[in-house]
Amino acid sequence: MKVLHDIHTHNVFSACCEDKTASTPAYIAKEMELGMRLFGLSNHIWDERVPGASGWYRNQTILKAKEALGSFLTCEHGDMKLRFGCETEYYACRDLLGMSEEGAGNFDYLLIPHSHLHMRNEVMADFPEILEARAKVRADLAEKMPYLPERNLDAMAATLREADLVKIFPELEIDVMAYINKANLDTFRALLVNANLQKLAGKLPVSIAHSFSPCGVPHAKKNEYLAHIRDEDAAECYRAAAKMGLYIELNVGAITEVSFDMTNNRLIDLYRIAKAEGCQFTFGTDSHSVKGLELIEWGDKVADALELTSGDIAEFVRDAVID
Ligand SMILES: [Zn+2]
Ligand SMILES: [Zn+2]
Repeated sequence: MKVLHDIHTHNVFSACCEDKTASTPAYIAKEMELGMRLFGLSNHIWDERVPGASGWYRNQTILKAKEALGSFLTCEHGDMKLRFGCETEYYACRDLLGMSEEGAGNFDYLLIPHSHLHMRNEVMADFPEILEARAKVRADLAEKMPYLPERNLDAMAATLREADLVKIFPELEIDVMAYINKANLDTFRALLVNANLQKLAGKLPVSIAHSFSPCGVPHAKKNEYLAHIRDEDAAECYRAAAKMGLYIELNVGAITEVSFDMTNNRLIDLYRIAKAEGCQFTFGTDSHSVKGLELIEWGDKVADALELTSGDIAEFVRDAVID
């Protein structure tokens, strides 16, 4: 299969984009050069109507994204269609989706991740050992500086990052892999029963972004982590997603982070299960740079590894593949 769409892209509007040349017109020009039939811009967005965004999301609003897009959505781009989407967020710790029904009305499609597991205490709770370590620091501060108000003690202890605490308490033994894998599955299950997602499903195309790809885990170790996700658990999640009419994203960036060898790539195995459960797919690079858009070439290899035909592709992007 030839994949001629990329609907997971971040440009300068996303806070994590470091390519200062990654403007909307630069992306459009590059996608046209690559011969794409459909290009979707999907910056990180938290709907300003939904209270509870972290500081990181506070400026990544729908209003700002629309301003950044400017008039490009309506411009002509040769034979290539431009779609306005976003990658929103799901805070599993609070069962909170960062997109309201009204907010979703601004978009052609949504990408929703469950596995931004590096967002501690938002998507995934602190490891229990880290919670204890933080409590110990707080207790020490309270003892040495009894004049400090409680709120300051809380704030000071909260500023210590996981990496700091691991250094302060080198004796900590944390089974990181077990916690991450549990969260990886729990967050997927929780997202699927989120009341807001259930309202949105079917109203506009929604694709689950990089499902099961644990963000924050070293790339070289991802295969090892993912080996512990059981086939039957993946099948249960994908069956539920297919029943709700949700699409599953084939995130070429996340897949190739695991391995460029499609025969030794646990994400490919998991997405094969998704196909068997009747899921349909969308493709995206998750590029944060102009150059990164070239990774879509690997989409063809992903499609071939999964033996996809156009019938396996989500209807709204189906014109942008060739069997
Ligand atoms: Zn993501
Ligand atoms: Zn992304």
